[in-house]
Amino acid sequence: MNEATAPITQDVVTIPRKLPEGGRVNLIGLTRDELRDALVAAGTPEKQAKMRVGQVWQWIYHWGVRDFAGMSNLSKDYRALLADRFEILLPEVVTRQVSADGTRKYLLRIAGGHEVETVYIPEENRGTLCISSQVGCTLTCSFCHTGTQKLVRNLTAGEIVGQVLVARDDLGEWPKPGEPKNETRLVSNVVLMGMGEPLYNFENVRNAMKIVMDGEGLTLSRRRITLSTSGVVPEIARCAEEIGCLLAVSFHATTDEVRDRLVPINKRWNIETLLGALRDYPRLSNSERITFEYVMLKGVNDSDADARRLVKLIAGIPAKINLIPFNEWPGSPYERSDWERIEAFADIIYKAGYASPIRTPRGEDIMAACGQLKSATERARKSRAEIAAETGL
Ligand code: SAH
Ligand code: SF4
Repeated sequence: MNEATAPITQDVVTIPRKLPEGGRVNLIGLTRDELRDALVAAGTPEKQAKMRVGQVWQWIYHWGVRDFAGMSNLSKDYRALLADRFEILLPEVVTRQVSADGTRKYLLRIAGGHEVETVYIPEENRGTLCISSQVGCTLTCSFCHTGTQKLVRNLTAGEIVGQVLVARDDLGEWPKPGEPKNETRLVSNVVLMGMGEPLYNFENVRNAMKIVMDGEGLTLSRRRITLSTSGVVPEIARCAEEIGCLLAVSFHATTDEVRDRLVPINKRWNIETLLGALRDYPRLSNSERITFEYVMLKGVNDSDADARRLVKLIAGIPAKINLIPFNEWPGSPYERSDWERIEAFADIIYKAGYASPIRTPRGEDIMAACGQLKSATERARKSRAEIAAETGL
């Protein structure tokens, strides 16, 4: 099999949704339909099911209640029944670090003892939560720390939405009965830019985002959610249709030769194929611009010729180009482009009519910046043979 046709295997562990007989089912992460089924299976009369779903949903996702005893509009008996059959369980916060610039990084422990990282980036009048979709990543982009992590498992929908709940807990962002609604939200935006390739864990990511967007809970608009993909072409249309959020793509190179090296999934779906899928995205999702992420690597992808090629390639796609100065990690094989180079590159793109913001690295002192995330338990660098075996590339 040659490299271009080799399948990308997803050697990931998916843990069962329901706990073994006798165990309590975690309600976090169930869709409305799944919650309904669970409540009915526990003995809720069919006729009441819709109302009960609405009530429990509001307690969990609007008020942030974690204890059935606090669900005061439910009868005592019903609360006892719920407590007997269900639990409301969030990922456990192992460490919480706060950067000098206010960025917060949470190391969370999930079932099986695995760990993932979530980063909160406060900005003026808004705040972005960067969440993970997998433990590690099956892909092996050569500039990304997460890609060097051996172990990979998909997060459940509950573990994905749980990261939003953990952040709101820590920031004290749940409404209080009787108090006016806070105008400025602390977690106003969610980006799927943490660990993992979200489109390789599609169903769980979609279900979690449906919960985040639900109008009776966290109520984040789909335009405040950005999913970043390395370019899993067959799932891009589905992302538009079934989630409808904004899309960012890890572009990073302007020739297949260089992109093959930086983002190896390019060997499966090359630049032209990827651009084809991106051209359809705004129409399918009824959204605006696509964000092209472009990591600035000294002497690798940062020349004026690259900038000009980039502009040509994306012609006709409503786009913004987000330049990311490379963030180093222990043992990383690249260097960050010089500041003048990044500015010159940005200028060419800007003059061609595209917004070209340079992403200021946030939380570098706590290794919270883009591409630096990795479980503390998992520091070993993969060998080339292991990478090849796992990705089929
Ligand atoms: N797996 C997804 C989302 C997570 S990565 C994806 O690849 O799109 C979020 C962004 O950070 C991606 O654009 C990724 O390419 C970039 N990134 C990864 N490592 C980086 C590093 N060391 N420095 C700067 N950006 C990096
Ligand atoms: Fe995975 Fe994204 Fe890192 Fe590539 S950049 S290894 S796709 S997390």
